[in-house]
Amino acid sequence: MRKYLFAGNWKMNKTLKETEEYFNKFLKRLSEIDFSDREIMIAPPFTVLAYSKNFIKNTPLKLGAQNSCWEEKGAFTGEISPVMLKELGVEYVILGHSERRHIFGESNELIAKRVEGVYKFELIPILCVGETLEERNKGKTLEVVEKQLLEGLSNIKDIKGDKIVIAYEPVWAIGTGINATPEEAEEVHSFIRERLKNLYSKEISTQIRILYGGSVTPDNIQDLMKKPNIDGVLVGGASLDPEKFFKICNIKV
Ligand code: 13P
Repeated sequence: MRKYLFAGNWKMNKTLKETEEYFNKFLKRLSEIDFSDREIMIAPPFTVLAYSKNFIKNTPLKLGAQNSCWEEKGAFTGEISPVMLKELGVEYVILGHSERRHIFGESNELIAKRVEGVYKFELIPILCVGETLEERNKGKTLEVVEKQLLEGLSNIKDIKGDKIVIAYEPVWAIGTGINATPEEAEEVHSFIRERLKNLYSKEISTQIRILYGGSVTPDNIQDLMKKPNIDGVLVGGASLDPEKFFKICNIKV
């Protein structure tokens, strides 16, 4: 069955020194975590990826990146290639994050290219989807999520269920302290699984992990994780604090 995934997205945070301080604290607690039913991934900024790998290389922790180009190399100023990420030991890549969509204007079409490229080079894309508050208030949540999901996956025909992850991150819940209730999240997660079933097959849809992201904390994670279609979390703010992220990763499910 699906392994839970507890993922930390550091966004544009942490210098070399702060990264060292973080891992020195976080790794001290790692032996308390039972990894038999879960994976833990941390996605630092590109500038400390290689440095982070040094700290986690003899641990079960997985390394993630926060974006990737689709090409192996070439004239793509400002981009990083999947091959470069693989070389550093990266296994997961967050794609289509709401900040990429809304601040940097990334379209579903562009995100689909990224997903395809990352998948082709055997990294695991974490495709993020989620509606704005305005879209939710207009009753358009499922419509928006469906479009982002189907267009984001449109270049992936032959899919392995354990090689792709979906993250539902409602924009209004990101960094606001207002998380979706477990019921609100589960409604969208079960909808996503249903759409994945229609798109691929029942078997594949039950293999794909669907994470929830948006103001996850040690206090609200327990109830979220009780829902059958919530397979883990994608954590921003609380993942920056080693003690908070440890508590999140160590909860009993
Ligand atoms: P917060 O946990 O800070 O709300 O961020 C969520 C997120 O965007 C993770 O990718």
